[in-house]
Parts: sequence; structure tokens; C-alpha cells
Amino acid sequence: MSQDYKDDCIFCQIVSGQVPCFKVYEDERTLAFADINPLIPGHTLVIPKAHFANLMEMSPGDLAAVHQASQKVARAILKATGMPGLVVMQLNGRAANQVVMHYHIHLVPRDKDKDGLNLAQWEPMPGDMKAIEAMAEKIRASL
Ligand code: 5GP
Ligand code: ZN
Repeated sequence: MSQDYKDDCIFCQIVSGQVPCFKVYEDERTLAFADINPLIPGHTLVIPKAHFANLMEMSPGDLAAVHQASQKVARAILKATGMPGLVVMQLNGRAANQVVMHYHIHLVPRDKDKDGLNLAQWEPMPGDMKAIEAMAEKIRASL
């Protein structure tokens, strides 16, 4: 289960004010701030103020709040940067390259033909329909 605050969590320390951040937006349940290792200018993180490690642990209310805040902040990022696109990215678990174990959404403005980022770009490769169907069934059965 999640807890509201975790001593050794850098994002909890940002929420509590122990560690500074460049704040972009705040409401009762969420905080948005600039990523200090930006992939591109405007790269912003949106987090719940309460500590949840990942998507699977998030409470419904905090999940809704973070995504609503992300929409507001995404609109502002597009306006401020003048970029035409934006990637929403959210990693879960070390195997997915999550480094900070406090749920967060990356908002990354993009102009794929100009920005030089290699992000969320892949060549679609047709899959095996039988395998796709079997896995969909397996996931459905796991709900
Ligand atoms: P993850 O791989 O966990 O999705 O990404 C964590 C992100 O948090 C990274 O992009 C990293 O630059 C950012 N980050 C880590 N520590 C700090 C910090 O102390 N302040 C800020 N603003 N961002 C941080
Ligand atoms: Zn935390």
C-alpha cells in the first residue's frame, strides 16, 4: 500500500519543500515542475503530492487529479515553447527504466523533424494475429 510521504524519496522531498524545484503548477493533490535533466526545453514532470510508486499503486482520485493537471500543463507547455507536439511518458518499474519510484508523468514537447530526439518512434511491424488474440485473451482473463 502507498503512504503519504516517504523520507528517502526525492519527489516527496520536493513536495515537502526540503528540496527546491522550478514549480510550474500546483493544486491540492498535484505538483508540476521542470525536469532538471530535460530532454528538451519545457520537459516537465507532473506528480501526485502523496507517495505512490507507480501506476498500479495509484489511487483513483490521485490518478484523475494528475492527469487533469497534466492536460493543463501540457497546454501551457505548447503555448510557452511554441512546439507543435508533445509526448506523455510514464515509466513503471526498473525494467521499464523508472528511476524515481514516485509516480510521475513526463511531458515532453516535440517537433520530431527538428528536435533530434529519439523518443516514441518505432517502425510498425505486423504481428502474429493468433498470438495477439491469445495475449489479449490472457490479459482480459487477468483483469
Ligand atoms: P524516470 O526514469 O523515473 O521516469 O525519470 C525520473 C526523472 O526525474 C528524470 O527525468 C530526472 O531527470 C528527474 N529528476 C530526478 N531527480 C530530480 C530532482 O531532484 N529534481 C527534478 N526537478 N527532477 C529530477
Ligand atoms: Zn515519494
